[in-house]
Amino acid sequence: MNIDNVRQYLKSLSLPDFRTRQIIKNYFSGRFDNFVAMSDLPLALRNDLDARFPLLSVTESTLLVSEDSKKAALRLHDGLHIESVLMDYGEWTTACISTQVGCPLACTFCATGKMGLKRNLTVEEIIDQIIFWKNKSFPTRVDRIVFMGMGEPFLNWDNLLEALKIINNKDYLNIGSRKISISTAGIAPKIIDFANLNTEINLALSLHSADQKVRDLLMPISKSFSLIDLKKALDYYTHKTNRQVMLEYILIDQQNDRPEDIKLIKQFIGSNFLFHVNIIPLNPVKGGLIPSTRQAEFTQDLDKAGIPFTVRRSIGRSINSACGQLITQI
Ligand code: SAH
Repeated sequence: MNIDNVRQYLKSLSLPDFRTRQIIKNYFSGRFDNFVAMSDLPLALRNDLDARFPLLSVTESTLLVSEDSKKAALRLHDGLHIESVLMDYGEWTTACISTQVGCPLACTFCATGKMGLKRNLTVEEIIDQIIFWKNKSFPTRVDRIVFMGMGEPFLNWDNLLEALKIINNKDYLNIGSRKISISTAGIAPKIIDFANLNTEINLALSLHSADQKVRDLLMPISKSFSLIDLKKALDYYTHKTNRQVMLEYILIDQQNDRPEDIKLIKQFIGSNFLFHVNIIPLNPVKGGLIPSTRQAEFTQDLDKAGIPFTVRRSIGRSINSACGQLITQI
């Protein structure tokens, strides 16, 4: 729902302020997926709003459900589709949100990269993925948000920032910064801008290799922003915010799982004790790379080298909703 448009329209009807507040509250509650269902409003107003505005800018195209996750293909007003995921961790739920239709970065291991970039998502389209999941799981809450769906969040900067304000706002989605994470493939200047925001939102870097030549092959964006640029930007970030940075690392057979990769990761980390490595299993994608067979040895070596790390479990593989598996062909 484009709040400003609805506000303006309600103003033009000279409706009392409390009506506007009521409608906005209803929208963010996730209880409704259309205006007509808002039974606390006069029927004529519900019908009028319904005829003028869709409540959500995304509509369900397909929904896949597994034990620990749900994945939706969502249709946008122009017929394009995105994917969005809700993960169930038992004690809390996390929505994995897309920021672009497709992605321009073409990382070799990622399905979304094969689509190319169609366009950026609008603020409403970003927010409405969350409302969609709130509505699907109502009255269960959506507790956390990760910007780890389709696209590169830092390449849709303005809309990302607007969306974050709405997510944070106590009168809107009211999800605290510490419950939000943003992952970037490594847009170094935007990491600096992000540091300057002084927020408590969590930051993750998709590192995947600390060897410049290998990273260039895996992630073409690495040629524009080198490991040296990223190291500088991240050191600036941790210095400025005193917050941890997650370094995401998928283990790929013979590409980044060699003993020398441990040394290079150690070198990248240097003396920065706020870096934490997340070892993520490589999820299968069509025509994709081969998962490492050396995970046990590699993590032992990380341990020996004194590098802080966690091995992450993969969620949603059975319905292709895991990291790197989001792609729409509709
Ligand atoms: N563009 C941002 C946001 C996407 S987050 C970024 O790159 O960080 C999605 C995460 O899934 C990234 O860390 C990405 O590197 C990872 N990923 C991509 N393909 C994967 C695959 N096949 N298996 C496991 N993780 C993958």
